[in-house]
Amino acid sequence: MYVHWHRRDLRVEDNRALSSSDPVLPVFVFDEEVLFHAAPPRVSFMLSALDSLRDEYRERGGNLLFLRGDPREEIPRIATRCDAECVVWNRDYSGLAKARDADVRDVLADAGIERRAYHDALLHTPGTITTNQGDYYSVYTYFWKKWRDREKDAPFDAPDEIVVPDEVAEDGIEIPTLADLGFEEPEGTIPPAGTEAARDLLSKFCERDAYRYDEARDYPAREATSRLSPHLKFGTVGIRDVWKTTERAKNDAGNEDEAESVEEFQGQLAWREFYAHVLDDDPSVVVENYKDYRYDIAWRDDPDGVQAWKDGETGYPIVDAGMRQLREEAWVHNRVRMIVASFLTKDLLVDWREGYDWYRRKLVDHDTANDNGGWQWAGSTGTDAQPYFRIFNPMTQGERFDSDAEYIKRFVPELSDVPPEKVHEWTELDPDEREDLAPEYPAPIVDHSERREMAITMFENARG
Ligand code: FAD
Repeated sequence: MYVHWHRRDLRVEDNRALSSSDPVLPVFVFDEEVLFHAAPPRVSFMLSALDSLRDEYRERGGNLLFLRGDPREEIPRIATRCDAECVVWNRDYSGLAKARDADVRDVLADAGIERRAYHDALLHTPGTITTNQGDYYSVYTYFWKKWRDREKDAPFDAPDEIVVPDEVAEDGIEIPTLADLGFEEPEGTIPPAGTEAARDLLSKFCERDAYRYDEARDYPAREATSRLSPHLKFGTVGIRDVWKTTERAKNDAGNEDEAESVEEFQGQLAWREFYAHVLDDDPSVVVENYKDYRYDIAWRDDPDGVQAWKDGETGYPIVDAGMRQLREEAWVHNRVRMIVASFLTKDLLVDWREGYDWYRRKLVDHDTANDNGGWQWAGSTGTDAQPYFRIFNPMTQGERFDSDAEYIKRFVPELSDVPPEKVHEWTELDPDEREDLAPEYPAPIVDHSERREMAITMFENARG
C-alpha cells in the first residue's frame, strides 16, 4: 500500500501520482503555512472540491483521510502508522511548495520510507520547453510553437483500489468549515467546484464555445471562455483530459476556422505553461520586476485612487465593471483583467505589486505564475510584456469590447439607463450631463490623456 498526498490535484481520474494498481490511501493535510497565504474565495472553492473528492472516493469503495497540521510531521506519521511502502505526490512548482516538499522528502528519507514526486499539473514540465541552447524562452510565440508540436501524454487511469486502514481512519478529522480554518465567508458567489463541475464546463465549452472562441473570447458580455481557471488551479480536472477533449473538438471542427479557434484556446493553455516556466526559471519574479530597468520605476503612492479602483468607483465604466465582477464572482474576464491592470499601473501609476496583492486576496483562480505573469505583462515589467508606450485607453477598450455596454451595465447598475454611446463618452461628458444621466455614478478620478503622458515619462525616466 502507498500513501497519496493530495495538494493541488483534487481529482481521482487523470492523476499521474495516483494512477496505480497498488492499493492507495489518499490523504489531504490542512497545512497552516499554506492557509496563511490563502484567501476566502479559494479556500471556499477548495473545501467544496474536497467534499466532492471524498464523495468520489466513497463511491469507489474508499475514503479520503483529512489531517490538519504540518505535513512534515503528518505525512511521515501516517505513512509509518499504516506501514506504507511509499508516499507519492504530484509536484507543485511554487517556491513555498518546493521548500515544503524538500523537507517532507528529507523526513521520509530519514524514516526509511520511499517517496516519489511526479510531474502532473502541466503538459510540459518547467524546464523542458527551452531554446536549442537550453535557455528558457522569454518570448511566448517561440515557446508556443515548440510546446504545440511536442507530443502530449494521454490521460492516466484512476487507481484500482482505495483503502483507509482502520489503524489510521481514527486519526482523520472531519472536513473543516471556513470558520474552523479562520476564514470569513467570501464576498461573492463562488463557482461550483469538483470534478463533475469541471467536466461539465469542459464538455459544454468544447461542444460550442471552443468553435467561436477566437472571435468571441475578447468580448466579456459574450461569456465565450471556458471558466476552467479555478479547476486548473486546484486540479479538479486533469490537464491531459483537457488536452484530449480539445483535440477531439479540433478533429470534429466543421471547417478550418473552427479548428483554428480551438487551437487558439490551446494557446491559452500554453500561456499557463509559459508562465510556469518563467516562475521556475526565476522565482524572484513574485516580488521583483522580470525586466530590468536602469533606474527604479517611480510608482506613485495613491491610497485614495487604489481604494476607488478596488471599490469599482473610478468613473471609468469598464474598469469599475471589472472590479465589481471581481467582488461579485471572485473571477474577472481576461480582457477586463488586462484593462483594470493597465488602469492601475498606467493611469494611477501604482506599482503592479499592489494589484497583484489584491487579486491574490480576491480571485478564486489566483495562481502565482499566471497572476504574476498577467500583472507584469500589464505593468510593462514582465517577459514578453505590453510595451510601456502602448497604453490601453480604458474608454476605447470599453467601446470596442463592450459596445452595447451590456457587461458594464451588468455590474454597474447606476449606468443601466444610460445609452451605450453616453456610457462610452462618460469621461468626456459635461458634469451637468453626467449628473442628469446617472447621479449615483462617479466622475472620472483621473484624466486619461494626462496620465498616459505621465506614465510614458515615468518609464522613460526608468530606462534612463
Ligand atoms: P480561458 O480563456 O477559457 O482559458 C483557458 C485556460 O487557459 C485558463 O483557465 C487559464 O488556465 C489559461 N489561461 C488563459 N489565459 C491565460 C493567460 N493570459 N495567462 C495564463 N494562463 C491563461 N489566470 C489564472 O489562472 N490565475 C490568475 O491568478 C490570473 N491572474 C491574471 C491577472 C492578470 C492581471 C491578467 C491580465 C490575467 C490573469 N490570468 C490569470 C489569466 C487569465 O485572465 C485567466 O486565466 C482567464 O481569464 C481565466 O478564465 P477562463 O478559464 O475562462 O479562461
